[in-house]
Amino acid sequence: MKKKIRFYQSINTKIVFIIVMLLVFALQIIGANFITQIERRLVTSFQEDRQAQIDFLESTVQPYLEEYENNEESEIDPREEINDLLSEFSGSGITDLQVIDQNMVVLGNSDSTQQDTLGQLSDDTDVRDVHLSGNTLAIQVEDSSSGARKWKIVEPVYSSSGEEFLGIILMESNIESVYTQISDITVIFLQSSAVAIVLSLILANMVSRALTKPIKEMQTQTRAIAEGDYSGTLKVYGEDELGQLAFLINELSDEVAEAQESIDSERRRLDSVLTHMTDGVIATDRRGKIVIVNNMAETMLDVTNEEVIGKNLLKVLDVEEDLTLRKLLEEQEDILINGTSVEAPTVLRASFSLIQRETGFISGIVCVLHDVTEQEKIEAERKQFVSNVSHELRTPLTSMRSYIEALADGAWQDPDLAPRFLEVTQNETDRMIRMIQDLLHLSRIDAGKSELEVELVDLTELLDHVLNRFDMLIHSSDYAGKNYHIERHLLNTPVFVELDTDRMMQVLDNIMNNALKYSPDGGTITGRMRQTDQSVIISITDQGMGIPKNDLVKIFSRFYRVDRARSRAMGGSGLGLAISKEVVEQHGGRIWADSKEGEGTTFYLSLPYIPFEEDEWS
Ligand code: ADP
Repeated sequence: MKKKIRFYQSINTKIVFIIVMLLVFALQIIGANFITQIERRLVTSFQEDRQAQIDFLESTVQPYLEEYENNEESEIDPREEINDLLSEFSGSGITDLQVIDQNMVVLGNSDSTQQDTLGQLSDDTDVRDVHLSGNTLAIQVEDSSSGARKWKIVEPVYSSSGEEFLGIILMESNIESVYTQISDITVIFLQSSAVAIVLSLILANMVSRALTKPIKEMQTQTRAIAEGDYSGTLKVYGEDELGQLAFLINELSDEVAEAQESIDSERRRLDSVLTHMTDGVIATDRRGKIVIVNNMAETMLDVTNEEVIGKNLLKVLDVEEDLTLRKLLEEQEDILINGTSVEAPTVLRASFSLIQRETGFISGIVCVLHDVTEQEKIEAERKQFVSNVSHELRTPLTSMRSYIEALADGAWQDPDLAPRFLEVTQNETDRMIRMIQDLLHLSRIDAGKSELEVELVDLTELLDHVLNRFDMLIHSSDYAGKNYHIERHLLNTPVFVELDTDRMMQVLDNIMNNALKYSPDGGTITGRMRQTDQSVIISITDQGMGIPKNDLVKIFSRFYRVDRARSRAMGGSGLGLAISKEVVEQHGGRIWADSKEGEGTTFYLSLPYIPFEEDEWS
């Protein structure tokens, strides 16, 4: 996150650079203007000085030239006068000063080393030009040997009347000093500029540092905020824009800290809700890739967080073949899937909903998994039950109908058939009534409306009583020709148990009835009793057809019969053991069976029993 700012990118450098550049530009413009002006003024004043000098010289020399030209008699040679004048004038920067007559002959020369030119014709081209033109010539020339710049004035001299050309004055003066002066000034200017630039560099640096210091502090602070550290506070240096900005950053930091805190607590709350939910929750991004999965969903699908994060939701739910993401987005219908729990197969209902922004943009899907195994089981049982009841009722009704039809068709007049047919319909009706009674009994137990009327009963006596009844029954005419025998191995002592006598008799009757019913060839039926620390166990064993191993548990379910046809033929409804089980469980006991096909069956019935201590009776 932290990005190093290069030297040239720094605002500090930029400010210093701009200030110094501005100064340099200003100095350049001022300097250029100033130096040109000075140069012009100095040169002009130099030229004017020289012109004044030559004008003065002209007026001084003029009488001597006039005298010379007119060959006037005098005591002193005018040429000497002129030479004296010239030597007086020379110096102070004048390098060459000559007076030339109207015939171009040099009359006087200020340079004592060039006295040999006197009387000679002047070879100066400028002099010749002025001689021809009669006008003053003022030009800058360069010394061929030294290269120094010189100001050369060639001035024609006229007689006082102004009509007669008398000669020429040539003056060369050193203008170089003026230029030297200018370059001196330039050097001074440049030096002061350099000092100014250095000073401004230091000053600009100080100013920009003062400006950028708070900015740097803000930078550090905002970086800290971005990294989640809200502890720092910026110093507010003043009321200016930077001060206000610092103040606002401080406020922003406080607000971000608060917002972050509330987001964190919100997230924690959400996490804890998700963790402790009894439903599984899976959230995905907009492409259906899983981003959140809670503990319950992990358990339900038998996966780990790492395994599924980033995976496709439909793949994880194993519904890729039946469902597409598009369909899910369009319809969001609940689906049933198989859970992969380790213990037992489960059925899960997956409900989907979209995570949608206000704009309608779908940013993900939430899938809630609910374990509906129990519900589905109950639903299946309910369906099975309804189908069973209808089936059980339809069979006797159909048979009754056919008998009644036969009777109506004339059989009622048949003295042999009519009573038999009526007996069948009566039996079927009885069976239906029994079945309905059984069903009503079960439904009362289911609804918790069947209350036991318990009393302290001697179980040994009760079992003995039941066995006695059946002993009488097998010796009655109904069972004539069948060889049944009842054996008993009961306890010698009374065993007092709290139970509802009628109901328990019903259970024992049912087991005994079955023992007879499913032992078509007769055989011994043995009633046993045993006592343990916490319970008393009754068992009734027959030597009948037995029950296949797979059916042993199922026979206690409603309407379940191993051999439907036989059971029905024997008047069974398939509800007897179901009711027995409910009743025994109401007593806090347990019922189960053990059997070997073809050899016989034993039904066990265990009831809770706490043996009384001897002393309690004494
Ligand atoms: P049912 O009215 O058909 O006898 P029950 O609930 O009493 O219904 O019994 C359920 C089924 O269990 C019977 O249909 C029969 O197939 C089986 N069964 C019960 N007792 C015995 C037994 N002593 N020997 C063999 N099969 C039995």
